Amino acid sequence: MSEVLKLDDKDVKTKKQEANPIKIPELQHRNFRNDEFWKKIPAWSNVSRAEFKDHLWQMKNSIRKVEQVQKVLGKLCTKELMDDLLEGQKITPMNIRITPYIFALIDWENPKDDPLRKQFLPLGSQFLPDHPFYAEDSLGEDTDSPVPMLTHRYPDKVLFLPTTICPVYCSYCTRSRIIGGSTESVDKNTYGANQKKWDDVFEYILRNPLIEDVVISGGDSYMLTPAQLKYIGEGLLNIPHIRRIRYASKGVAIFPQKILTDDAWVQALQEIHDYGRSYGKQVVVHTHFSSPKEITHWTELAMDRLFSMGITVRNQAVLQTGVNDSVDTMVKLTRQLGYLNIQPYYVYLHDMVPGCEHFRTTLREGIELEKAVRGTTAGFNTPTFVCDLPGGGGKRHVASYEYYDEENGISVWKAPYVKPGEVFTYFDPIHKLSPEAQKRWADPKTQKEMINAAIEKVTKRSDKDENQK
Ligand code: SF4
Repeated sequence: MSEVLKLDDKDVKTKKQEANPIKIPELQHRNFRNDEFWKKIPAWSNVSRAEFKDHLWQMKNSIRKVEQVQKVLGKLCTKELMDDLLEGQKITPMNIRITPYIFALIDWENPKDDPLRKQFLPLGSQFLPDHPFYAEDSLGEDTDSPVPMLTHRYPDKVLFLPTTICPVYCSYCTRSRIIGGSTESVDKNTYGANQKKWDDVFEYILRNPLIEDVVISGGDSYMLTPAQLKYIGEGLLNIPHIRRIRYASKGVAIFPQKILTDDAWVQALQEIHDYGRSYGKQVVVHTHFSSPKEITHWTELAMDRLFSMGITVRNQAVLQTGVNDSVDTMVKLTRQLGYLNIQPYYVYLHDMVPGCEHFRTTLREGIELEKAVRGTTAGFNTPTFVCDLPGGGGKRHVASYEYYDEENGISVWKAPYVKPGEVFTYFDPIHKLSPEAQKRWADPKTQKEMINAAIEKVTKRSDKDENQK
């Protein structure tokens, strides 16, 4: 096993050849903030850089209750903000958990509009009624689950959920039905890591030789101990037909300090990576940056360490209104990730899950953003914008719909390989449609007629194609 390279700020500064900050406008994506931004938070005004860098300090000081927000912010927390946060807790399906790193990056002068506050600290005033066709398990992961903790949809790939806890809880989480514990509005069967329960998953994969690829998600791989990380990694890599495993973790984005100071965890990751490589198998990390505001010099340091270990990191962002739905933000995010050796892999249209209507965009917005981003950098560093089809059709490129009734916000899709013969529908958020279309959605009978008409356009065409064969 190769030894984990340890970097500190000084090493990186001497390694990088460019002056910082860079003044040229086109190169602004190479500037990463390196100030002691956490010192603006009254409770952390005396926290040193070394303390802030410590992963144990970050975990210990994570915010897990609304009351802590007030305690840590002191006078920066107005009564209006506090009331709105408390109201949010009555509605949101996600509990609060936020690292000091992300908490301190929020603009507390204007928290309402801040893209990080929006993602992790919901306000009661932001919520909209759920779409009539939202679902707790919108992607049908439970339906396609042959054994607990496993979803098997694509022939050669499975999704393994060994834990349902994370270092932060995101308001937009697609698995809000199980992640992060019960809330005032939702009862959940959240579970922590328990390696005795994972053997059935390994057994299923062993018995299905078509499977080559395993996504280890959850929950978040950051919450696995080094021993658990290795138990899963080695267990999977020892299955002869497994060629690729991916550890999914939002950690690089919201808690880079763990990569810098949790040497045992990083060493375990390196050992699994090297073990896989010795058998010609890939071990990579998939992470989850959605806003350029999540990226700082700490990210740069963490990525330098992972890159030096030979670990490939890919990113999956979720498109969210007010977070990353502008061309400038998405281009900056894409270019920053590329610069940091993180491959921008996917941008997802927001899933149709509870408590997220205010975040969702229309399909058209997704298509237009993809057009704007494409061409700004190399193709392999350009994310594919996808819609993960409600009902389990899998991920489809945003422009690959079969029919789009833009006026009523209804798109119809097929997934010929994943679910042959089935059609799937995705719906734009109603509040973004014209007043006339909103009126039509208010009537259940008209709703049904609009949806049937859109589906018929596709099924009739399919019948015609079939007859012409
Ligand atoms: S880190 Fe992933 S699984 Fe955890 S709350 Fe966020 S989106 Fe959900």
